[in-house]
Amino acid sequence: MRAGRWYDSRPDVKRILLLHTGGTLMMRGGDPSPLAPDVYTADLFAELPVLRKVAEIESRILFNLDSSDMQPHHWVELAAAVHASLARYDGVVVVHGTDTMAYTASALSFLLPGIDRPVVLTGAQRPLMEVRTDARANLVDACMLATMRIPEVGIAFGSKLLRGCRAMKLDAWGMDAFGSPSCAPLAELGVTVEIASHVLPARAAVPFDPRIEPRVLAVRVFPGLDPRLLTGALRTGVRGVVLEAFGAGNVPHLENSLVPVIAEAVSLDIPVVIASQCARGAVDLSRYEGGSGAAQAGAIGAGTMTSEAAVTKLMVALGRATGDRVAAAREAFRTAWAGEM
Ligand code: ASP
Repeated sequence: MRAGRWYDSRPDVKRILLLHTGGTLMMRGGDPSPLAPDVYTADLFAELPVLRKVAEIESRILFNLDSSDMQPHHWVELAAAVHASLARYDGVVVVHGTDTMAYTASALSFLLPGIDRPVVLTGAQRPLMEVRTDARANLVDACMLATMRIPEVGIAFGSKLLRGCRAMKLDAWGMDAFGSPSCAPLAELGVTVEIASHVLPARAAVPFDPRIEPRVLAVRVFPGLDPRLLTGALRTGVRGVVLEAFGAGNVPHLENSLVPVIAEAVSLDIPVVIASQCARGAVDLSRYEGGSGAAQAGAIGAGTMTSEAAVTKLMVALGRATGDRVAAAREAFRTAWAGEM
């Protein structure tokens, strides 16, 4: 269902802040040397002068990293920069590597609960300077979307805007690299820009809270996973665990049962969140014995959340927890903060 339609003619010129964090979009190299972050200059506008027609754009370089090197403290720094400038711009565009863009978009969604205008992440599979690049279209789309009334953190890629905390990188090779299998796009960019009706309403600004707990361990469950490996990990300072379980949230409960280690984690006040390895559908811990055993041991189901959203939300929730961490996580996963479930 569509809520709005946007054409090219604009009544007034909008202002956008473009924050650069790195990624392929501005990289050089490749074949035979690996692609690496390049010195970022005003090249962006020289290469793509049409951006000046979209809005008045100010740009700032926050980092210049391959996004595989992004860390939770980078998310906080980026969120703080967005929070500090949002009121002065109609929207913010974040240029970011594709590899961890879904994590950063999820983290920003949870670190910026009060936003009333768009924060649009984008990147590219091929660098801007190449002839056959997806960077030009993605950048133009991201900048256009940043001028619209879409008060969410989103990922603009492959002619779509996806809700950031529902998105996943699904393709390491194709230009249409992102999807949000359990949430329809917020906008689709064809001949016109069609804005969907499930875009969240604007939310009033709240003070920025930089607290985050990076000591979260995410483990993909697989047949044969030895629970002793997880028991050992619990002694390394882990503050929260996300188990990417099978299907509706099932874990082995017979041979190599994970139920005792879940109970042990919970007894140590280490919350265990169960997400699914499936891109569609929801975690329902009551459906099978493996899931219900985990729930009885104290695990928390992540519903329809992606693993990226579950990991980042747990980090943000634990960063704010003052007492009982399991209770804080349970409370955080009971309600949606940014349309993540
Ligand atoms: N490795 C790159 C990055 O995530 C990939 C990309 O940008 O597409 O920074």
